[in-house]
Amino acid sequence: MKNVSVLGATGSIGTQTLEVVRANPEQFSITSLSFGTNVEAGVQYINEFRPKLVSVATKEVAEKINGTIDSACQVYYGEQGLIEVATDPDSDILVNAVMGSVGLNPTLTAINAKKTIALANKETLVTAGHIVMEQARKNEVDILPVDSEHSAIYQCLNGENKAEMSRMTLTASGGSFRDFTREELMDVSVDQALNHPNWSMGSKITIDSATMMNKGLEVIEAHWLFNTPYDQIDVLLHRESVIHSMVEFIDGSVIAHLGTPDMKVPIQYALTHPDRLEVTNGKRLNLVEVGTLHFEKMDLQRFPCLRLAFEAGKAGGTLPTVLNAANEAAVEAFLRGKIRFLDIEMFIERALEQHSLIKDPTLEEIREVDLMSREFVQSLLV
Ligand code: NDP
Ligand code: MG
Repeated sequence: MKNVSVLGATGSIGTQTLEVVRANPEQFSITSLSFGTNVEAGVQYINEFRPKLVSVATKEVAEKINGTIDSACQVYYGEQGLIEVATDPDSDILVNAVMGSVGLNPTLTAINAKKTIALANKETLVTAGHIVMEQARKNEVDILPVDSEHSAIYQCLNGENKAEMSRMTLTASGGSFRDFTREELMDVSVDQALNHPNWSMGSKITIDSATMMNKGLEVIEAHWLFNTPYDQIDVLLHRESVIHSMVEFIDGSVIAHLGTPDMKVPIQYALTHPDRLEVTNGKRLNLVEVGTLHFEKMDLQRFPCLRLAFEAGKAGGTLPTVLNAANEAAVEAFLRGKIRFLDIEMFIERALEQHSLIKDPTLEEIREVDLMSREFVQSLLV
């Protein structure tokens, strides 16, 4: 039996993590979970999975749920609450599935508590990859990727000598607007952007997929997770999302990871690693049904967010922090109807341009830059 804690249990990844646990009651139990403000789903999960420890966004939400749940459950809130769940002494593995750089602190405290981490929260690695990976190394903590591309690469590298890898290729479905021209992108709506062709995900990552910033964040995530230089990381447009990513070795061999587009597969692999369990939904890849796979070169003019991410990643220091924070603020503004779709990339570029890079930032400096970049984007809104 593996005891699991989940940060962001009411989200897309969190809910699918609970589905994996629900389907395998002999293998997993939930000892603690966190959610933000979605009381209806949160209380339902608490009553079903009976965690001993829960964290919610605010004191008000904590008071609201206290009357409705099993009294054996301790309820925390705010930043401290996330830390309580991240360091839950009863859990064997932490699934970090909160959205945004709010996930950084809990990741670092979990690492210091020597907790294995199944990491969905890619913003953690984008904003402070050098600190997270260094602490993980020092504490001998495994960071298991949940992101499907990184889970794919992790599996392609299983049993291989990493020094013999020549490149890695992350595949990208292209998001909601893959067939739109730049002109057609001028007036797209929030609803159109939220309509992803292959994956059903939280709203922020769905917008990130439409701008291609999601792939940019994933390039930086891959750089840190696998300690791979940026010039060995490629991105390929692959509309079917059947090949989740691939690795090329020095002898020209390419190992790819294939599967149905279902996040429960990488979530489950992170939970069972190094073992595997039966697939939960019974769905298996049928290549005859798929028929044809398509691949296209990624156009950095068409998708400037990906170019910005490569540039910020290569420059390093605090630039990825600015990229991530400005993106979070701009996407939020877009979702609230305050800016247009193409303003997202423009705001991020301006935030990057006005920033004076700090080469090897401390955690304090990262927090400060994160905040300042959000404020900068806010200042452009008025
Ligand atoms: P969602 O928006 O669906 O869920 C986010 C979760 O985090 C919710 O439970 C939400 O609570 C909680 N949350 C949000 N903000 C806070 C906060 N400030 N404090 C505490 N809890 C908070 O996101 P996704 O599940 O789509 O994504 C989560 C992470 O996983 C992201 O980093 C994303 O990039 C990554 N990822 C997601 C994939 C997917 O398929 N969805 C695929 C690969 C990676 P509530 O709703 O109750 O307020
Ligand atoms: Mg992904």
